[in-house]
Amino acid sequence: MSIKSAPRKVHIKSFGCQMNVYDSHRMADTLAPAGYSETANPAEADLVILNTCHIREKAADKVYSEIGRIREMKEDAAVQGREMLIAVAGCVAQAEGREIGRRRGVDLVVGSQNYHRLPELIARARRGERVVDTEFPLEDKFDVLAPPAREVIRNRGISAFVTVQEGCDKFCTFCVVPYTRGVEVSRPVEKIAAEVERLAAAGVREVTLIGQNVNAYHGEDANGAAATLAALLQRLARVPGIARLRYTTSHPRDMGNDLIAAHSDLPPLMPYVHLPVQSGSDRMLAAMNRKHTRADYLDIIARLRAARGDLAFSSDFIVGFPGETEEDFRATLSLADEVGFAGAYTFAYSPRPGTPAAQMEEQIPEAIKTERLYRLQALIARQQRDFNASFVGRSVEVLIEKPGKLAGQLVGRTPYLQSVQVMAPRTLIGQVLPLAITDLGTNTLFGALAERAGAPALAAAGA
Ligand code: SAM
Ligand code: SF4
Repeated sequence: MSIKSAPRKVHIKSFGCQMNVYDSHRMADTLAPAGYSETANPAEADLVILNTCHIREKAADKVYSEIGRIREMKEDAAVQGREMLIAVAGCVAQAEGREIGRRRGVDLVVGSQNYHRLPELIARARRGERVVDTEFPLEDKFDVLAPPAREVIRNRGISAFVTVQEGCDKFCTFCVVPYTRGVEVSRPVEKIAAEVERLAAAGVREVTLIGQNVNAYHGEDANGAAATLAALLQRLARVPGIARLRYTTSHPRDMGNDLIAAHSDLPPLMPYVHLPVQSGSDRMLAAMNRKHTRADYLDIIARLRAARGDLAFSSDFIVGFPGETEEDFRATLSLADEVGFAGAYTFAYSPRPGTPAAQMEEQIPEAIKTERLYRLQALIARQQRDFNASFVGRSVEVLIEKPGKLAGQLVGRTPYLQSVQVMAPRTLIGQVLPLAITDLGTNTLFGALAERAGAPALAAAGA
């Protein structure tokens, strides 16, 4: 159903992971033909969408306080005689849809698989109906979603995310994803290639393939056979204009030989792998139902390093999982020591309703979780600092992304996603250039155009 009408404004706020950022962009694309343009200011919006995250309790709590804040804006708008709709989307909507639908001020609740129906759902909400749509639909939203306009792609920058896989069949005992995002589904190769070609034609140079379990990808290829993530990457590496490819988030269980080999064979595939391990203790890995051991993980890291010597790694860790002893935690510290990470996300275990771990006895007191979290974070921060410091005095290829905060400054990223600031002309945005790394800031490297610094331009950075 079309709701084409006077121009309207939509404000979309994304919580949580990159998949939500991608979904938020696609929601905006879907609403554009219905007359909605995006605004960064929720107070002036006709429609506010909260695209929510349910992964940890804090993330879910934020949504409820945000609904309260937006409701006040809605009431102010009503006083001015202006209608503002509030929609709640994403994983909290999926998990707690009915409850959220009853919240004062909320007009519409839409699950993670249903947002392609937004124009129709908004039309119903504007007629006064309280809409909750969280059933998993029969149709594939990717077949229905409107593509973004060229100008919109440009404004989003030269690095883009593309969802290639959704859902998860792994059922780690701590995790809500299999319940909120549903079973593992992969998009067909050629549909992804068409999306990447459209992005590249509008100036995108780097694409990160995303999925809750991206390396379990098994989408249909042009011949109707199941393609692996490695095969998909090979296909996308042929798209003109695409200089860099990345993928996230991977599960150690699905790290196939061909994906490992792709790291030596496929130049656009960046030498930085995010591979969550969660714990270094086999006892905890078993209780988490991770389906891999510490030795399996270390073996994969070794095989990846053998495929490409300059690979660097990041990971996810959970501390304070039910039953975790000091000895288990030390096994996590020793695993981090053994691998030497370039970065990591570290989390205190958060019990999630409906997951097996939330029912486990021996929940760990918050004070112990916090203390372990600090110790792990201190180790990871040290590793990250050392990793970044190792670049000073070297030349590294940087994809120049956008203007920086200072006049004449540009910001780019290394193959390892480190941010680099450089004084250079804006015409260089979108180029991959060798920069001489001159210094290290808190969250950034400082670089100079190689020829200006007199440094030789190396083909690629070593880790
Ligand atoms: N699929 C990925 C994997 O296999 O590790 C990650 C998905 S999840 C969105 C991102 C991270 O959130 C996880 O790797 C885990 O470290 C963390 N996480 C998930 N559930 C959690 C919980 N209940 N408490 C704390 N951290 C959690
Ligand atoms: Fe959650 Fe990842 Fe485990 Fe799936 S593999 S259940 S997404 S942590």
